[in-house]
Amino acid sequence: MKPTSAPQTYRVKSFGCQMNVYDGERMAELLGERGIQPAPEGEEADLVILNTCHIREKAAEKVYSDIGRLVAAGKENGKAPLIAVAGCVAQAEGEEIMARAPAVSIVVGPQAYHRLPDMLDKAEKGERATDTDMPAIAKFDALPARKKRGPSAFLTVQEGCDKFCTYCVVPYTRGAEISRPFSHLVDEARKLVEAGAKEITLLGQNVNAWSGDDDKGRRVGLGGLIRTLAQIDGLERIRYTTSHPNDMDDDLIAAHGEVAKLMPYLHLPVQAGNDRILKAMNRQHTAESYLRLIEKFRAARPDIALSGDFIVGFPGETEAEFQDTLNIVDDVRYAACFSFKYSPRPGTPAATMEHQIAPEVMAERLQRLQARIAHHQYAFNQASVGKACTVLVERTGRHPGQWLGKSPWLQSVWFEGEAAIGDLVEVTLAAGGPNSLEGQVRAKLSA
Ligand code: SF4
Repeated sequence: MKPTSAPQTYRVKSFGCQMNVYDGERMAELLGERGIQPAPEGEEADLVILNTCHIREKAAEKVYSDIGRLVAAGKENGKAPLIAVAGCVAQAEGEEIMARAPAVSIVVGPQAYHRLPDMLDKAEKGERATDTDMPAIAKFDALPARKKRGPSAFLTVQEGCDKFCTYCVVPYTRGAEISRPFSHLVDEARKLVEAGAKEITLLGQNVNAWSGDDDKGRRVGLGGLIRTLAQIDGLERIRYTTSHPNDMDDDLIAAHGEVAKLMPYLHLPVQAGNDRILKAMNRQHTAESYLRLIEKFRAARPDIALSGDFIVGFPGETEAEFQDTLNIVDDVRYAACFSFKYSPRPGTPAATMEHQIAPEVMAERLQRLQARIAHHQYAFNQASVGKACTVLVERTGRHPGQWLGKSPWLQSVWFEGEAAIGDLVEVTLAAGGPNSLEGQVRAKLSA
């Protein structure tokens, strides 16, 4: 590659999960330290980072079409952008990307992006650089202080996964489970609150697998960390995602009943409702044990909103086994859910299993599942009508004087009135639709 002048502007395009969004924010902070500015809206950037997701088939192919678009735009503008590919596709297919896409200068995995400055030095000299090393903790220690602004912030506390569900690439692209040190997390949370965050969402592939030694040297789990973070002045709301049923403990469940700043919302994937399928997925739990866990959460916090993840069409899934998935949705009555068709991922055991389900059967099952999920989501919003709650204002609405934010149950709420982004406003939920609710202002709690 020809040497290129130092990029002045950048754009980070993050795909997939919230952890990728968090990584994208940290990469942007690294570039900011180097004096590189975000490219203005609508303008081509000198450096483009595609921060990729590897969960679904189309996601990987999408990377190549995005690269193609950037190259074509560069030809049109007479200035080729510096292209970097980061995230899970970079980790899984780094060499293939370098072979298939000569326009790419940098390939960097999710555990190595703290070395982006060195890789940029090489790229500016016309060299290509790849780094898919996995020094997770070292990464965080090497990153600059948080500069994130805004009412809501993500904080990665745990990374990697040791569960090896048979359909999932994450253990191969994100590595083994690691927990970031307690003191580093408290420090980063304080910095986020100083920068204006009222709400922090703790992130991890298995966030509830987090554990560490607190400031008194006691071994604590996620419940202990949440109790400590709740003492930070100015931090009003705490959330966490994504959890695994097998990493739940009584202290975390009890925290939902005891820590007022911990929001009454739990995202707990189950993926399927049938035990034979759960076994074939290597989920290491049954439908029954999952439902007992849900009961414990409801006992600790009766108004808790529950959300889940589901996969339809896992290899070998019969109609009767799919019915079990519909049944567990009816048993739990989720406030919200994410649902997907099974997608064979290269290198995962399920990809070579017999009895792969036909796409049209998957599509038809997904439709039925999503109709059932939508029914319960609407019922949850309807049941919320008349309740008083606070809304954290995140952005302006469709017209002046209209604002949008999230309820404690992570519902989208809009209201009319005097407010600003970052305000906590007390409302009465006046009407509930399938995807959002209308609020009527009672008082403004804090600006
Ligand atoms: S728990 Fe299973 S689905 Fe979740 S990241 Fe780990 S392997 Fe993937």
